Amino acid sequence: MPSGNHDLHIHSLYSDASSEVFRIAERSSSLGLDTIAITDHFWPSLGSRRGGRPLIEERRAEIESARDHFSELRVLDGAEVDIDADGELAEVAGGLEQFDLIVGSFHWSMDSSLWAQALARALREPRFQILGHWDGFLTSFRESDGDAAATALAKAGVAIELSGRYQVQYPRFLEQGKEHGCVFSFGSDAHSVEGIGRLQYQRQLASDLDLKIVDVNGLGRGTD
Ligand SMILES: [Zn+2]
Ligand SMILES: [Zn+2]
Repeated sequence: MPSGNHDLHIHSLYSDASSEVFRIAERSSSLGLDTIAITDHFWPSLGSRRGGRPLIEERRAEIESARDHFSELRVLDGAEVDIDADGELAEVAGGLEQFDLIVGSFHWSMDSSLWAQALARALREPRFQILGHWDGFLTSFRESDGDAAATALAKAGVAIELSGRYQVQYPRFLEQGKEHGCVFSFGSDAHSVEGIGRLQYQRQLASDLDLKIVDVNGLGRGTD
């Protein structure tokens, strides 16, 4: 049984947060988390104006040094990438394959029918492992759209994030996810060191609903 003692959605000062990579690892380690993912946005994803290979490589070197320093903590080198209306993922300099983990997220408001359609397209050949803050920008929710989305997510094996930043607006979808055999992940979406691991409510919800938590050992390069 995966412990779920992870936070797979954390931003650093390499995108729109204030946290240094080393401080993120230090805080996570002191909280007793076993796995974290640093998931910055890189231009042209809209959460950041910054990007390019030198920036990503500089960040990677900091992640590697944090791994050396906090050897009991698993630090995944991740990115959060926009999912567009046509289901395409925004590109990142150097490609998505260089990362251990991709969080795919919608960052534009839409109703659930557009959401389910875009998601179905994105999941045909999924290039991401986690659907970030799934209802953060949803303006409505129809049962049939939730059903279609949950079916596609389960088939693709893409985890549904329980977000520490966006409140669950449509809890029915979590039940649908469960019914279809989806897995779930925890992500604080922290933009400050203090926000890391703030997931008590989400952990309780997962426990109350008996949701299946993603096995983090299956994530990352060289682990499958
Ligand atoms: Zn986001
Ligand atoms: Zn984020």
